[in-house]
Amino acid sequence: MEPDRFAKLVKKENVTDEGFAINESYRPIALTLQEKFKELKDAPIKNILFVDNLNSKKKAGSKVVFAEIGKIPRRWQDVLHQTTGLYFEFVLTVYRENTANMTRAQIVALIYHELRHIRRDDVGNKIVGHDVEDWYEMYTKLGYNWATTLGDIPDLLGGDVDWDSIEGPAALFTADGEPHKLRVVK
Ligand SMILES: [Zn+2]
Repeated sequence: MEPDRFAKLVKKENVTDEGFAINESYRPIALTLQEKFKELKDAPIKNILFVDNLNSKKKAGSKVVFAEIGKIPRRWQDVLHQTTGLYFEFVLTVYRENTANMTRAQIVALIYHELRHIRRDDVGNKIVGHDVEDWYEMYTKLGYNWATTLGDIPDLLGGDVDWDSIEGPAALFTADGEPHKLRVVK
């Protein structure tokens, strides 16, 4: 089946009123991030289905969910393969209602964040949790509020930007020495 036809099928809004649309514009970002950051080398980018959720303002508890990545259940991997000829192992969902005010640099950081959830081990690819409340480099170098700040954050795809080149934010800790309350970026 041609990708166009498949896209139209998936784009069709479903009964929960949470329309999904394939968005291939994230794939080149993911591929370029992978070329640049060795910690992403195992992520099977070609086997990720990138979709936007167009309607939901999803929250997990009181926290806004910007994006999430999950493994596609095996039976749906097979159905997708049989209907499209393409093999998808993971689905990365971006919540467009919740990311509408993000800058491009924040979207890039969001894709980086999600890709790091994929880990390869002896039995295959799996989803793992954060090493701190976020990923250590993101927390220390971009700041705990990288997804919500209205200030600039470094563009991880910037030519001379790598983790070593980024100076962390000055105010990771409050005046009383307590860490800022972290927000979970799911
Ligand atoms: Zn996460």
